[in-house]
Amino acid sequence: MEVVIKDGLVLQPDFSLKKQDVVIDDGKITGFDSTGIVGYEKIDARGKLVLPGMLNAHVHMAIGLAKGLGVGIPVTEMFKKVLFPIEDAMTDEQAYLGAMVCGIEFIRSGCTSVNNLDKTWSKPVLRVMNELGLKGTMALALKDIDLKTKERTECEYMKENEWLVKELRKNPRVKGLFGLANEIEASQSLINDIKLAASRYSTGVHLHVAESVVERGFIMQSTGKSSVRYLYDLGVLSEKTIAVHAVNVSSNDIRLLGKSKAFVVHCPSANIALDAGIAPVEEMLDNGVRLGIGVDDPVATINDDLLRELYTAWVLQRTRGFNLPAERLLGMAFGGNSLSAGAAADVIVADLRKPVLETIQQFIMDSPKIVHVLINGEPVLADGKFTRINEEKIMEKAEKESRKLISSLE
Ligand SMILES: [Zn+2]
Repeated sequence: MEVVIKDGLVLQPDFSLKKQDVVIDDGKITGFDSTGIVGYEKIDARGKLVLPGMLNAHVHMAIGLAKGLGVGIPVTEMFKKVLFPIEDAMTDEQAYLGAMVCGIEFIRSGCTSVNNLDKTWSKPVLRVMNELGLKGTMALALKDIDLKTKERTECEYMKENEWLVKELRKNPRVKGLFGLANEIEASQSLINDIKLAASRYSTGVHLHVAESVVERGFIMQSTGKSSVRYLYDLGVLSEKTIAVHAVNVSSNDIRLLGKSKAFVVHCPSANIALDAGIAPVEEMLDNGVRLGIGVDDPVATINDDLLRELYTAWVLQRTRGFNLPAERLLGMAFGGNSLSAGAAADVIVADLRKPVLETIQQFIMDSPKIVHVLINGEPVLADGKFTRINEEKIMEKAEKESRKLISSLE
């Protein structure tokens, strides 16, 4: 597809903004001057910001129909009384609609890719990724320890995760990873199996790490090590690892995370909603930790909007005395995407609130309206409307199924 995004304020590699065009050919950015180019589809971006698509680096899409149901409930009760019963009651169609609700919101908030981690529901979630055209990774949150009894149980979805990894080898947009629920619901032997499986398939691992003091206390008591040291020693942290949270970490842990090159995902709303605390982002950046940002769990936070997450991240770091620079925060959100010649044309166009301060700081502070989203040069959101799906019909069905699902628990 040939597209010109005309006269926007385009983000430069040094995070400044410059009025120019973005020329797209065959899914890639080919230049920044459309003089003399004719016959291309035109997007008028006058007065708007043109930025790379963002990566929502840690999400649980399948449980989207239960959005907000766990807000304000203490974490252990939330899992026991809300999340687990919802997961047990959900049908494949409900998982599909829940993932759709999340996916729609992700694109509306400027995301072109996501890293998803769900208990199961590989097929419905993959259907959503394909239908929306989203890029990213998928994995299952495998576990084999019952938190209540602390006994070993069967790891239920290992085969499904393996199927997913194999299936996604032929998918050009979505990659399969192996997943782990966290360091306390997986035995050492399961962690080892996952590490070996990931290496066998030359892929990575996606897991929650050092989220709350509960994990820290449990691992310290059983191994004498911190969560990060424990996982590092087991060899599960590497440049192919997505390690989510890292809130309850020491200075040594932060050094290890930097050394391992793991991609650490900051989820500020969920960390506050689930009473985990505020992650030491400044210390992690100072130690060269690769950082991303994600909305995490829609049940506990209700939030699927990455723009709101950026604002939350900035505000919460301010309470720790850290003025998180806009370019560092956006660097976390872009997940390696850039507007450079030859790069995939994953591009968003944002309409800032007026009066306009044409700065990237305003983009973070003011949750602008995302009017266009292009993935591989294809407009999946054009003038605020989805091009691939009937949003209204999907939301209508989702609303009905959400009520059905929630009433089945009462
Ligand atoms: Zn999570």
